[in-house]
Amino acid sequence: MQDNTLLSLRGLRKSYDTQEALNGLDLDVYRGEFLTLLGPSGCGKTTTLRIIAGLESPTEGKVYLEGKDLTNVPPEKREVNTVFQNYALFPHMNVERNIGYGLRMRGIDKKTIKEKVHNMLKLVQLEGFEKRMPSQLSGGQRQRVAIARSAVLEPKLLLLDEPLGALDLQLRRQMQFELKGMQKRLGITFIYITHDQEEALNMSDRIALMSKGKFVQIDTPYDLYEHPNTAFAASFIGETNIIDSTVEGINGDEVLLDIGGQQVQARSRDWLVPGQKVCLCVRAERLRYRKKDPGCKHLQGKILLSQYTGSDRTVVIELATGQKLISRHTTEQEEKIQPGENVCIFWDKDKASIVMDDRGTQPDETK
Ligand code: ATP
Repeated sequence: MQDNTLLSLRGLRKSYDTQEALNGLDLDVYRGEFLTLLGPSGCGKTTTLRIIAGLESPTEGKVYLEGKDLTNVPPEKREVNTVFQNYALFPHMNVERNIGYGLRMRGIDKKTIKEKVHNMLKLVQLEGFEKRMPSQLSGGQRQRVAIARSAVLEPKLLLLDEPLGALDLQLRRQMQFELKGMQKRLGITFIYITHDQEEALNMSDRIALMSKGKFVQIDTPYDLYEHPNTAFAASFIGETNIIDSTVEGINGDEVLLDIGGQQVQARSRDWLVPGQKVCLCVRAERLRYRKKDPGCKHLQGKILLSQYTGSDRTVVIELATGQKLISRHTTEQEEKIQPGENVCIFWDKDKASIVMDDRGTQPDETK
């Protein structure tokens, strides 16, 4: 635990009858951080959030806020607030009254409420909207009022459960950047839930990737994308080729992999042993190819499909093993190669990762 740790989860488990929703979670969340819980439907994101909020009790394990055990503290005494996807504002109250509601309930004097609400309207960039009713606001503006209504109570931690889920794609994208800016201005720690990897990559300081009630990897967006630890992490984030390989030999920080009888060099990992079956992950946008020439020392395959999609081209290449790889590149970089032609396949060695094969232990539907 670091000095700036705000929230800690230790050994958190939750079972519903025979169903294990959470399987032993450990996590430290730092002050001022935007941390996202990301994972497929049913992986346990909402259950984790509800336990942090105090709306659910863990079967085992502890929740600490600033080192104090919160596990048996009721929700209203936790200094933790939640913004849900269906952020129901009070329809009969204008924006100002909606934001000030929690402060009035706490018996704060009128002058202080006015000041705090005004300050909050500035932070969420809704000055001038004080007298509007919720029905006169767009979805994005309503969402900002909902966040302001929670943030004005100055919680130590704000929990957000898919708060952009009800918005259309364009507004969602715009709100992602607004929300991140808002969080930094407010200076409140956010724990944000989403199953949308793009949203997680755009907003988070760190992402805790979940699957089947466990954290698979907790990392910055950069490290999760560039250095996934498992095949699940590599395939959940971005579009990735996961190439079945066997470790043939290890030489310092280099490893020789066998891919269906062809040899490929890669950066080694300290857990590799000769003969081991592993996955080599290469992002679709980093997989390159060129017409096969007699001196080709790279992996070889045959173009199956080449699809023009405007700015990009998506090409499917089949290896001798029958495994299909995807290359996605801009149309400016393209060399005209027709389906049926043989190609040499290559990539920057530093941009490919060897990962553990955890595909058998994950759900099929990973997105
Ligand atoms: P989604 O993205 O679909 O909201 P999630 O990752 O938030 O999913 P949870 O809602 O935390 O997942 O659910 C985790 C698991 O626990 C699921 O298998 C779910 O069916 C189960 N579960 C959640 N709440 C209950 C409950 N009250 N009773 C029984 N099972 C539950």
